Amino acid sequence: MDLHLYNTESKTKEIVRPRHGDTILMYTCGPTIYNFAHIGNFRTYVFEDLLRRVIQFFGFKINQAMNLTDIDDKTIKGAVQNGVTLKEFTDPFKKAFFEDLKTLNIQPVEHYPPATAFIPQMLQIIETLLKKGIAYKSNGSVYYSIEKFPTYGRLSHLCMDELIINASGDNNADEYEKDNLSDFVLWKAYDSERDGQIYWESPYGKGRPGWHIECSAMAMDILGSSIDIHCGGVDNMFPHHENEIAQSEGCSGHKFVQHWVHVEHLLVDHKKMSKSLGNFYTLRDLLIQGYTGQEVRYLLLSCHYRSQLNFTFPSLLAARASLRRIEDLIVRLRSIEMHGQNNKHIYDTLNSAEKSFKEALSDDINISAALATLFDLIRDLNTFCDQEAIGRQEAAAALKLFEQWDQVLGVLPLHKKEEIPNDLLEFLHKREVARKAKNFSVSDQMREAIFSRGYLIEDTPNGARLKRK
Ligand code: AMP
Ligand code: ZN
Repeated sequence: MDLHLYNTESKTKEIVRPRHGDTILMYTCGPTIYNFAHIGNFRTYVFEDLLRRVIQFFGFKINQAMNLTDIDDKTIKGAVQNGVTLKEFTDPFKKAFFEDLKTLNIQPVEHYPPATAFIPQMLQIIETLLKKGIAYKSNGSVYYSIEKFPTYGRLSHLCMDELIINASGDNNADEYEKDNLSDFVLWKAYDSERDGQIYWESPYGKGRPGWHIECSAMAMDILGSSIDIHCGGVDNMFPHHENEIAQSEGCSGHKFVQHWVHVEHLLVDHKKMSKSLGNFYTLRDLLIQGYTGQEVRYLLLSCHYRSQLNFTFPSLLAARASLRRIEDLIVRLRSIEMHGQNNKHIYDTLNSAEKSFKEALSDDINISAALATLFDLIRDLNTFCDQEAIGRQEAAAALKLFEQWDQVLGVLPLHKKEEIPNDLLEFLHKREVARKAKNFSVSDQMREAIFSRGYLIEDTPNGARLKRK
């Protein structure tokens, strides 16, 4: 079965195939580490994690880079305003980002390049673009001449004839809209008021790279000049990814990215969740309110990546309810003691679910259909349990399928620690007290009471604890 993914550039679903052996080369635009990432950002990163897992599920290896934007207008402004170095300013946000990735069970990727470690590679690209006459210098800055790249606009499907190139706009900004289309900056001349003590030396004088050149340099240095998949949120499509294509292809002379994948926005009250609008929740905001990383991951994951998702608290509660439903079945399957019945009907149900789940993923990661398959199976398995038609072997086969699916979803409640009933913990405590007082009849009584409820006492160097028999 082939994996099909929608390609923003061709506007069609295309088969994903590695062009370098059996390894998919994937670049994903990472966070700007000037603040805590919000759950809108994490919608994109959770999807990218799903994509990475799906690629592996379809049998490919993956080599992925996610950059850390530590040089841009916002990080420099933050460092200057706080009177600290760029590293001092960005380090805590970088640390928080990795903690959040863990909370959301996002797999670590192979490379996390920070822009500050790739300045020589950026200068190298700028030099090549200058030599080719695609870039030009002006007052200590270097600009990309978009007229020199005939296919400029092909990713975001801009009709260049209809757009007026606005030479009078601020062509130094990292982010801008289509109506401010202009030559964009590759190297920004140093401005002491704006940049404080933050600058790098270059053949054009002191300054700093533009945001777009950072991703071209890191992607090409780590993954090569021709990569399989490039991913980011839809707001990255223009100008960021458009400019990445222009820079990378202008430099290498050949196609930069085979497959462009863009994730739709997470909204709040039907507006994009963003720091500038102030309508955002960080992951930490939600954890403080008692939600778990697993619940947030489930919510962000459960909507198709090309549809907008409106964030609400009832939808987060619905995610919690879905996870409980899955967990209830898992607990039920694990507690089956009856021998297998060789129920062919159950194996047929499992096989057909396995096929439907993979088919759903193969179709542009149709997560809604994949989750529908999961819940249909849960309903069927519950019915088998009600009818006492399912034995240990069939239950184990079902649990194995859930384990396999969780390689992709990373969210199923399969590894939850079992909660020990409070009264048994009380019995354990009484046993400890009785033993210390050498009151062995009470301590034996407590042990018997615990045993009769299906638990064993394990004496460890850190004290006694309970374990299921
Ligand atoms: P930034 O830190 O602003 O560079 O954004 C990091 C990533 O999050 C980029 O891929 C953005 O496209 C993505 N992103 C930002 N806001 C949202 C949102 N509301 N929904 C989904 N993705 C977003
Ligand atoms: Zn980028």
